[in-house]
Amino acid sequence: MYQHYSQQGSELDEERPGHAVAILRFKGSSPGVHIVDVNTDYQRLWGGSREDWLGVAPIIVQQEAANRQIFDQLHDALNPLINDAESFFEGIGGLEVNRRHDGSRRYVEWRITAMGVRHNDAITLVLTQRDVTEQKEKEAQLKRLATTDMLTGLVNRSQFDTVLKSEINRQNRYARPLSLIMLDIDYFKQINDNYGHDVGDQVLVELADLLKRNLRKADCCARWGGEEFMLLAPETSLEQAVRLAEKVRGAIKSTDFPVEGWVTASFGVVEVLSNESVKSVMKRVDNALYLAKEEGRDQVSTGGLLSSAKQA
Ligand code: GH3
Ligand code: MG
Ligand code: MG
Repeated sequence: MYQHYSQQGSELDEERPGHAVAILRFKGSSPGVHIVDVNTDYQRLWGGSREDWLGVAPIIVQQEAANRQIFDQLHDALNPLINDAESFFEGIGGLEVNRRHDGSRRYVEWRITAMGVRHNDAITLVLTQRDVTEQKEKEAQLKRLATTDMLTGLVNRSQFDTVLKSEINRQNRYARPLSLIMLDIDYFKQINDNYGHDVGDQVLVELADLLKRNLRKADCCARWGGEEFMLLAPETSLEQAVRLAEKVRGAIKSTDFPVEGWVTASFGVVEVLSNESVKSVMKRVDNALYLAKEEGRDQVSTGGLLSSAKQA
């Protein structure tokens, strides 16, 4: 009787089930919920034939423990309905991640509602499951686009703002060291002027790749603007951040960019103080970078806080 769902499903690719439907019966007196009918999309999603499924407990989500939890939740919600004709079941639902044999992930949205038909101590329910992987992937792709710098693939400025705020909050809560490094390519305008904008772009891309290679997983690296980059290093003191900046400075200088001579960059480094505002941190790191430029470029400055950092 529910086979009309399968017509739509049969036109779909084998690998992509449509709307899987199972009709379930819940009995107050018996321990479980069992299937009274399934459509072909349900069979495609979970395997087996219609006959295999009749009379057995449904699979709602892939993981057995989670499946059991859903049955418990269902029992708690439905038991009062058996004795009280006035009570109402709003339905339950969720989004699960299923793993396929090849390791790929599928997102399945599921929902269980009552059909409104109640016979003595039995309630008929409808379980629907829909593969929403494409939709989820599109959402993730849109999010990536909105948070990524198109040229370099690094985090963009607005996303870096978000990360910085949340890391500063975390640092305040747990009193952990957090450092910020701002770097700016020296005389980048000359690179554009001498070699053209495309070569300038290529230098930016290669520098971004170098930054990615030199960072830890927890660090966040962003393109802040034209030829300016930010590195946020959690669990990192000022001294450690200066060492990191020096390492990156050396790596940039020894990289063979597609220009004659070498490319250098200047660095401002600060450690976030306890209860310091984002505005204040940004101002201090900007000042430190300004000093590094003032004092001759191709160097790391802490804005005067750590004299050992001022080396050419
Ligand atoms: P300084 O050592 O003082 O930092 O000098 P600079 O020449 O690096 O700094 P300035 O601010 O004068 O110039 C930055 C240049 O970066 C100017 C701008 O045209 C260029 N720029 C900004 N964004 C991009 C981009 O996306 N691609 C390219 N190729 N150039 C860019
Ligand atoms: Mg600049
Ligand atoms: Mg510059």
